Amino acid sequence: MDKIKMSTPIVELDGDEMTRVLWQWIKDILILPYIDLKSEYYDLGLEYRDQTDDKVTVDAAEAIKKYGVGVKCATITPNAQRVEEYNLKQMWKSPNGTVRAILDGTVFREPVIVNGIKPVVSNWEKPIIIARHAYGDVYKNVEFKVNKGETAELVITDEQGNTRKQTILTFEKSDGIVQGLHNIDASIESFARSCFEYALDKNQDLWFSSKDTISKTYDHRFKDIFADIYEAEYKDKFEKAGIEYFYTLIDDAVARVIRSKGGYIWACKNYDGDVMSDMLATAFGSLAMMTSVLVSPDGKYEYEAAHGTVTRHFYKYRNGEETSTNPVATIFAWTGALRKRGSIDGIDALVKYADKMEEATIKTIENGIMTKDLIALSTLENKKGVNSKDFLLAIKETFDNM
Ligand code: NAP
Ligand code: MG
Repeated sequence: MDKIKMSTPIVELDGDEMTRVLWQWIKDILILPYIDLKSEYYDLGLEYRDQTDDKVTVDAAEAIKKYGVGVKCATITPNAQRVEEYNLKQMWKSPNGTVRAILDGTVFREPVIVNGIKPVVSNWEKPIIIARHAYGDVYKNVEFKVNKGETAELVITDEQGNTRKQTILTFEKSDGIVQGLHNIDASIESFARSCFEYALDKNQDLWFSSKDTISKTYDHRFKDIFADIYEAEYKDKFEKAGIEYFYTLIDDAVARVIRSKGGYIWACKNYDGDVMSDMLATAFGSLAMMTSVLVSPDGKYEYEAAHGTVTRHFYKYRNGEETSTNPVATIFAWTGALRKRGSIDGIDALVKYADKMEEATIKTIENGIMTKDLIALSTLENKKGVNSKDFLLAIKETFDNM
């Protein structure tokens, strides 16, 4: 069989530890035998980030801007222990944060669903994709402890020095606490556009929720920005696609999510998204089955697994032990990127390959061959826990026989 040809490269961002090992195996076993892979390679492994003073991360992000599609391996975000372990020049920033800032993008997380691993919420049949606004609010707060008798005020000063002022509280009865939050229209607008773009890309309804009934200026601003951009730029496209944009109060959204069948995108403010994405990941089964895509407001895509570099497994692997690390989310990062590339470039064979490889991965698990993390979750009667490489080889066999 001839290998599938590509016309434009995808941007390939290699990473660290166990996921770096899986990365190479996935390419060797599941991709290179079928595709004449055109990729522009950036090594985001921690050693090379350190050697290049992290320039490689910035270059990779710029390349995604240029080519429109990237695929990223999990990477170490250094902490003090890593600085020592890798003898780093400095504590480099999170690569995901750097790429996200350059692309001005939003992260969407989507679980891979297989028969035999039932979500905790039994009526969920399809994935619920969650988007988290990743700027501001409590994550960029300013806060004080306040003493009894003190008064807290909110003061806004314009460029000429004129002020607007509101009393928050005079702490008459007790000591207390006070917190200042902010967000900026530009960031909320980018968030909204990324959400609308991705809803069109997935052809799924978009929900957005906040607490505008209580926060009549702050949260209401989010609601208005979404509504204005929808009306001006997306209403026609949504109607043509037969999908819906739907705003509701966060409390109502939570109730509807629990009762739903799934199959839509849920956009959340920063804190809601932080909490709800962890809840959804747990309820759907396993972090190892959670995929993630960064979408910019102008429609650039970077696909990755939601999990990290699986350090504990890597240390075993380095000692010569076999590990049963789950490669599913990383496989889906590759298929997501290749499908996107194929659909932008009009290469049908690439889109079909991606669909078939995902199907083969799911089928292999449903046939009872899986990594050990899934054994405990799966209700199948006949199941076999295998190591990572044997799992990849089993997927290849399924693929070849489809
Ligand atoms: P992690 O790599 O996601 O792993 C946490 C634990 O979850 C693992 O020890 C393992 O549990 C389980 N797990 C996660 N992915 C798995 C998989 N594919 N197959 C089987 N089990 C899996 O998180 P972490 O240990 O907190 O972080 C490790 C490194 O990853 C850190 O340096 C962090 O900076 C980085 N990180 C990167 C990203 C990213 O690049 N997007 C995201 C998060 C973290 P058991 O040990 O019980 O088997
Ligand atoms: Mg969280």
